[in-house]
Amino acid sequence: MSSDPDDDPRVPITCPECETTSRVPLPDVAAAIDRHNDQLHDGEDVARVDPDVAEQLADMVATDLGLLED
Ligand SMILES: [Zn+2]
Repeated sequence: MSSDPDDDPRVPITCPECETTSRVPLPDVAAAIDRHNDQLHDGEDVARVDPDVAEQLADMVATDLGLLED
């Protein structure tokens, strides 16, 4: 029983052109970025995960997968 939506880490998506940042649950990140770029930027790759967070996420995921273990 771990379906509490608050359990999902929120990821900031930033769009330099719109000067907006919004936080969405991790599972929705890809869809949210797609939707934003599709609707507002003709499908161009403008909005993205906040670069600082993307790096942390990459670390987290890598740790999860055991890629950083010796
Ligand atoms: Zn935008």
